[in-house]
Amino acid sequence: MTGAPAAAFGPEQVVGLLGQTFTGLSADDLAELAALTHLRYFPPDTVLCHEGAYEDTFYIIAAGEVLTTKQISAAEGERQLRRMGAGDYVGEMALIQNAPRAATVRTLTACAVLEIDKADFEAILSRSPRLALSIIRTTLNRMRANDQVAISDLQKTNRVLAQLDRNKLEFIQVAAHELRTPLTIMKGYLNVIKLDPAFHDSDDLRAALDGLSRGTERLHEVVNAMLDVTRIDSEAAGGGLLAAVPVPLKSVVNDIVHRLQNDAADRRLTIAIEHAPDTPNINADPTLVQKALYHVIVNAIKYTPDGGQIVVRTRAVALEGAPRAEISVHDTGIGLDREHHELIFEKFYQVGSVALHSTHKTMFKGGGPGLGLAIARGVVRAHGGRIWVESAGCDEAALPGSTFFMQFPVNPPNAKKK
Ligand code: ADP
Repeated sequence: MTGAPAAAFGPEQVVGLLGQTFTGLSADDLAELAALTHLRYFPPDTVLCHEGAYEDTFYIIAAGEVLTTKQISAAEGERQLRRMGAGDYVGEMALIQNAPRAATVRTLTACAVLEIDKADFEAILSRSPRLALSIIRTTLNRMRANDQVAISDLQKTNRVLAQLDRNKLEFIQVAAHELRTPLTIMKGYLNVIKLDPAFHDSDDLRAALDGLSRGTERLHEVVNAMLDVTRIDSEAAGGGLLAAVPVPLKSVVNDIVHRLQNDAADRRLTIAIEHAPDTPNINADPTLVQKALYHVIVNAIKYTPDGGQIVVRTRAVALEGAPRAEISVHDTGIGLDREHHELIFEKFYQVGSVALHSTHKTMFKGGGPGLGLAIARGVVRAHGGRIWVESAGCDEAALPGSTFFMQFPVNPPNAKKK
């Protein structure tokens, strides 16, 4: 049939092939194994193993070539794992595990194959430790080779993702610079108009000018956030040194909270501060620390309904003996589901639908561009610290709240030497 070398496979050849496949087996073992095999021939393009199916046969290739493939996803199609020929075997993993086939095996050429049934295979495995060991060794080698393929795939994908991230940063940077120039011109003209006494006589015009001022201020903040995220990310990527100076952490916290008290009061929110007496000062870039803290507290305001409470706490902690300062921002807001706890720190990540997005700095759920926490994470990382959130989940009725934690080492590892 289809040119397979039928005549070449008498009982002696079968024993010879098995001896070559499972080295170290005694003549008796080989004879016993040979007696359990059935020789079969298949034309090219025959599927021996169907991925996902429960099948009962173990195959040893006697002649010809087969290809193993695995379905990655509907969109990505299948991936070729390996080609195999005389002396190789397939189908053992599914039998050992009692699991569906992990891959599809297809003949590439006409093939002669020795088949062994599941029951016989199991019986001989339990009788012959040498055979079992030989199969385990081959199986582990294959799994290791599969791992290697998966790792090199991941490395390739990571390189592509890193490039996409760089493209995204460049785009944000260009867009922010393009927006900043006309914005500065608009703000300049607005200031000129405001100085004109003619506008002071009309309530309507004054209200319109106030609206324009608030709009340009908000735009200015968004553009600054875009520039901040590109700066912080590109410095972190370049492993840049930090211009660290002694920072009185408690005063920085007090200042930021003070700056946001009016916004909080507009929404009937209270912001309390609790400094533990042992809160250390840190060596850090004060502007960056202020930015991180600002975004986290603004979020606590945004995602807490009117009348809620926010508490900002500071204290001393240590990691592996190294002193750190911890700032936590607790709110009685809507909370965050577990699945978002890490992703919210990615650039532009928004929980829920962007279509429902209403932009405002401190309005309840007034979403921003999704950069605040990316900036906060960039700042904390630049100092060798850690940022994370704890929340029991998102529930706009029960209001479980969220607590954001930021830890800064007292002495950041990458500070510039003075
Ligand atoms: P945004 O500009 O959308 O506020 P952020 O990066 O600051 O972007 O935050 C990302 C997302 O994390 C927000 O869209 C929000 O869904 C969620 N989030 C941030 N802080 C809180 C909080 N205190 N409570 C609940 N959700 C929050």
